[in-house]
Amino acid sequence: MKRFDAVKDLEGRKSPDVSEPPPRVLVVEDEADIAALVAYQLTRDGLRVETVSRGTSALSSIDREMPDIVVLDRLLPGESGDEVLRTIRRRAATRHLPVLMLTAKREQEDRIEGLEMGADDYLTKPFSPRELILRVRSILRRARSTHTGGAGQILRAGPLAIDLTGHQVTLDGRELNLTPTEFRLLRVLVERRGRTQSRQQLLESAWEVGPGVSGYIHTRTVDMHIRRLRTKLGEVGDWVETVRGFGYQFRLPDAEG
Ligand code: CA
Repeated sequence: MKRFDAVKDLEGRKSPDVSEPPPRVLVVEDEADIAALVAYQLTRDGLRVETVSRGTSALSSIDREMPDIVVLDRLLPGESGDEVLRTIRRRAATRHLPVLMLTAKREQEDRIEGLEMGADDYLTKPFSPRELILRVRSILRRARSTHTGGAGQILRAGPLAIDLTGHQVTLDGRELNLTPTEFRLLRVLVERRGRTQSRQQLLESAWEVGPGVSGYIHTRTVDMHIRRLRTKLGEVGDWVETVRGFGYQFRLPDAEG
């Protein structure tokens, strides 16, 4: 158990709000030892944890009580993690539900696919307890800041309207189905329209990833999310411009913003 000691006080810099119940985590993993380890770490970090081993049980658990985040293994018996994720993203009630995917090491390309499908982040097995808790806490913080940000404010850019409270984006009045990460990414880009944002800046603002955890995978993560965001924006996706060798910027064609 020695290797778990590093986890202690990891999030000590940010004490939880005592008025709120601890966030609820649903762990979907069929390998009992990994599930137990994950549950142990998260519980120890002050979270409420439920563990299920199948996709169908995951969906019925979500129906019973909405978790704050799902830690979802890709490889499950029966319905796969990918299928569960697709269902979560398809349903109106759960499409903004944060999901952290667990993938096997050999699935280097698969994890990119996982992000494309709408996972907020992924973790490759074997992972350290520290990494797991950092990712879960980071996703929870992002979800919270998205939900509580800017009371009643609507951020507009041409036909785009970003409801900062309702956490919805409409394009010409038609609602777009964005994941929480895509929402924050778009928000940051539109808020800083006309200014080029480096991948690192986007990571720090939309993912709340600190400078210490950058790297190839992380900048790739930005690229993947940008690609997905562009697809969802359709023609407006062209307004998210690639600034070669540097990053991205949002620019209205008529320079309105
Ligand atoms: Ca598994």
